[in-house]
Amino acid sequence: MSFNFGQIIVAGVSLLIAFLGISCQVYAVIPHYGGWNLTSISILIPFNILLFFLCWNYYLTCITDPGKIPENWEPKLEGEDVTIIEVKKKNNEPRFCRTCAAFKPPRSHHCSSCERCVLKMDHHCPWVNGCVGHHNYGYFIRFLFFVDVTCSVCLYLLCVRAYEVYDDSVHFRYWYKPYPSTFELIMLLLATCGDGLVLILVGFLSGQQFWSMSVNTTTIEGWENEKIDEMVSKGRIEKDKVNYPYHLGVLRNIKQVLGDNPWLWLWPSPVPGDGLNYPVADGLKLPVIWPPPEYIVEKNRPPNTFVPKQRIVKPDVIPASEQELYQRHRRGSEGYIVPNISMEQREKMSDFGMYSDASEDFSENYIDDDEGSDDYVSGQGYPRSSLYYRGSNAYPYGEEGEDAPSDDSDTDDQPIGQRITSVQMKAMKTE
Ligand SMILES: [Zn+2]
Ligand SMILES: [Zn+2]
Repeated sequence: MSFNFGQIIVAGVSLLIAFLGISCQVYAVIPHYGGWNLTSISILIPFNILLFFLCWNYYLTCITDPGKIPENWEPKLEGEDVTIIEVKKKNNEPRFCRTCAAFKPPRSHHCSSCERCVLKMDHHCPWVNGCVGHHNYGYFIRFLFFVDVTCSVCLYLLCVRAYEVYDDSVHFRYWYKPYPSTFELIMLLLATCGDGLVLILVGFLSGQQFWSMSVNTTTIEGWENEKIDEMVSKGRIEKDKVNYPYHLGVLRNIKQVLGDNPWLWLWPSPVPGDGLNYPVADGLKLPVIWPPPEYIVEKNRPPNTFVPKQRIVKPDVIPASEQELYQRHRRGSEGYIVPNISMEQREKMSDFGMYSDASEDFSENYIDDDEGSDDYVSGQGYPRSSLYYRGSNAYPYGEEGEDAPSDDSDTDDQPIGQRITSVQMKAMKTE
């Protein structure tokens, strides 16, 4: 039987929970209340119930698969039940994972540690030896909640006992009381420090996670929204153009994770939904395209470019509001979906060039669309399918027969000419 590093961490976390849970009872509650009696038992029973729920949710978070993309899943681009289409930041195409050779459902991302795509990926968590995603997110949130509550109770009980030891010794009560053993004192000290540390660290994480749940963002979406907010604050996108589509109101957001019945929110029940479809906020025109086209244009602008006033994205050149732009057809033989764009629409968009912005890499674990998930078909190059027409001075990839850039290079500081060359060369090398 062999263990990997992740399993050792999970074993370590389990031991830490056991140590804190047991030492609180043995070295704080029992001695403080003078052994097993009605008072100590009336404290220990609820404490152990909390501890049990903590362990149960930890176990469920670890063993529940966060969610896989079903085989042959494809984004719905039209029809009555179409809600949201998430597109690549680079070229506005439906998101596709090259590594898994599969279309990505909304909110899913590829995890480089798990080496697969994960539905509604929140983050890769070494403490649970896997990803936190759609199906185990509810257990993870409950686990954090029970850690916060149990650790707070535990810390209170440990401090009460520690104060008692201090108080007894300064008032010379150990003349007639049995003095606690050195081992007992060391355990009391270790448990108090360990518990305080866990409470600070997990408390910080849970604050973040509870906030994310209440505004219906995953950790990854939170980063993306921060970028968009930054653009709004710089006046590059109008605020009312950005409608984060998953925010349904706090109550509905929480219900999406913990279930419809608030009385059962703390009960470890599966997360509702299949992780492939998500309702969008009221009042949004369907299908919702996310992220906003303004963001995609901005993302593809070369860094440090002067943006004259009239180049600030205007609705009449943004294809999002023009639903027919998103009507795509499938090129069956080649296996990808492309938009139908008329010549007139191309001319309208001709002001926008596409540049590769090898930009942010938020996390070590999750692979952004810009990095490893393009619908690049080996031997065929990129399909000529961007929603944006590339002008004469525009970045040339995407033309038929051209190679695709690999965006994981950090080339932000180079002049554009150089940038393109190095990115292209890199692409050729990877090819
Ligand atoms: Zn993948
Ligand atoms: Zn992962």
